[in-house]
Amino acid sequence: MNPDSTQPTLLTTTDEVEALCQSCGVCCSTFRISFYWGETTASEGGYVPEELTQQMNPYRACMKGTSQSNPRCIALAGNIGESVTCTIYPNRPSPCREYDVFNEQGELNPRCNQARAKHGMPPLNVKRQIG
Ligand code: SF4
Ligand code: SF4
Repeated sequence: MNPDSTQPTLLTTTDEVEALCQSCGVCCSTFRISFYWGETTASEGGYVPEELTQQMNPYRACMKGTSQSNPRCIALAGNIGESVTCTIYPNRPSPCREYDVFNEQGELNPRCNQARAKHGMPPLNVKRQIG
């Protein structure tokens, strides 16, 4: 990436976006990842492995590790800022599926760099090519 340049690095492919996230991973180590408990395998039709989740109340669960002062999702493997993988990627919960890395104009979600700052990591200066 090109964090110091005023011109953002343009990402043109899905592979490049995936590579960006696989070298970052701070969103999995910053936010509480909570969702309707029915997404877990404790519920018929649920897919998020129940053993990796924590019940928060009768309706909500969260990924283990994300409801603490220094969050880190239990399903995250690797070192943030270097190389990371979601070990349950096909079965990740809705907040992870719905998080938009880029908006419709191709601009990076500001929460990404807010999360990176919390970890002392430099901001990303990237844009997604649209169209
Ligand atoms: S913080 Fe943003 S860039 Fe980093 S892994 Fe998460 S979605 Fe990707
Ligand atoms: S389930 Fe996967 S994508 Fe979601 S926070 Fe955990 S490691 Fe990240």
